[in-house]
Amino acid sequence: MKVVSVEGFILGSINYKENSKILNIFTKEYGIIGVISKGCKSPKSKIKSVSENFTYAVFHLYYNEKGLSTLINADVINYFLNIRKDIFKISFLTYLSELSKEVYKESSNKEVYDLFISAVLKINDGLNPIVITNILELKYLYFLGVGINLDGCVVCGKKSILTFSEYKGGYVCSKCRTNEKIYDQKVLKMLKMYYFVDISKICVLDIKDNIIKEVDNILNIYYDHFTGIYIKSKKFLNALKQNVE
Ligand SMILES: [Zn+2]
Repeated sequence: MKVVSVEGFILGSINYKENSKILNIFTKEYGIIGVISKGCKSPKSKIKSVSENFTYAVFHLYYNEKGLSTLINADVINYFLNIRKDIFKISFLTYLSELSKEVYKESSNKEVYDLFISAVLKINDGLNPIVITNILELKYLYFLGVGINLDGCVVCGKKSILTFSEYKGGYVCSKCRTNEKIYDQKVLKMLKMYYFVDISKICVLDIKDNIIKEVDNILNIYYDHFTGIYIKSKKFLNALKQNVE
């Protein structure tokens, strides 16, 4: 085993022996790895606080490529204090952690880590968590092999489009539309914007609430229909969204 320092985020953990935990860390370089945090449940432990869920840090480890690594210590990069004091935002963090884990497991694409972290940082900066989450969800569709065709009608390929069909799986033109709802052109444009925007460069979001809600709704239906991914915390999050509105 070699000593390494790696940037990562604790997605979750399970108890291990009397005083220890096995951490599930999403790392920038090595993907998702299991790390033993020895004695971290004892009150005197120096690594107690950095072994909590959602710790974002540079982890110093004895790295084991083929099995469990061992935590030595960690330097926290960001405590996400704004997220931690807000139950609504914590729910997004929980959901995004679960979703990103699934997307990484399916795709093994290292870009998932950077997208995930940049989204969490933006939510912590105070940007609308629904929009940031939707942007991430839209980008993740391509890692899952079910990305939305943004170039034109999903049925015939025609460039000019009328609306979006969650069930046909993309934009549809006036000829191919059957009974789909006609969305506001702004909603249709927003889907493209979500795909092309660089999350780390977003400073302000100026989008009307009804547009945000419709895009969120489209992505919810699309995910259920095309991805086959089931995220435990999503139901709770959706219930919470209803209450906030
Ligand atoms: Zn068409």
